[in-house]
Amino acid sequence: MARSTIDQLLSGNAGFVKDEWQPNAEYYKSIAAKQTPKVLWIGCSDSRVSEHQMTGSKPGTMFVHRNVANIVAFNDVNISAILEYGVVHLKIEDIIVCGHTRCGGIAAIEDGVHENYIADWLCIATGAKEAADRIARERGLSREEKLAVLTEENVKLQIKHLRNLALIKNMHAKGKIPRIHGWLYRVESGSIDVLVDGQGGVKPAVAKAAKPAKR
Ligand SMILES: [Zn+2]
Repeated sequence: MARSTIDQLLSGNAGFVKDEWQPNAEYYKSIAAKQTPKVLWIGCSDSRVSEHQMTGSKPGTMFVHRNVANIVAFNDVNISAILEYGVVHLKIEDIIVCGHTRCGGIAAIEDGVHENYIADWLCIATGAKEAADRIARERGLSREEKLAVLTEENVKLQIKHLRNLALIKNMHAKGKIPRIHGWLYRVESGSIDVLVDGQGGVKPAVAKAAKPAKR
């Protein structure tokens, strides 16, 4: 009889306890006593984009917020509380905003979506769509290339939103912490590209997949 997904999850947990937790019991007991994550991760809810797995990290490494299209919303009490807890109480010094290829949220921004809540949510990425429209026009990009640009522009826009939140703005008025990084995860290969480094440096606006048209 085929096992249900739920059964697989529970037997997977039994395997995790036996093969991962118990052989590393000292580590897991230490994080059970106190979490000290070094990174605050803002990523997409997409099932293929698992931050700890893609970075080869153990539980306890990252404090995590995920939503559709890795968006930083001004009026989102959820992300604000996570940020406050992460940078003020856990004293996390690095925040990563990570977008990814083949993102359904990004495709929905490009195509326009009329479902109530999804449309409202994706409105927060309107600025990225405008930038991608302009770049696509200038360079004559294909749809796939444009989606790559939109994905990158969205990461940069959400970093801008992050920097404009009072909590972060006030911290940056005093120094460079928290450092903010922008990453792109490629679901086709499992690799990560750095779009914005923690020093504020920005990589070229067009993803590797999107070659500029010849001029
Ligand atoms: Zn996504």
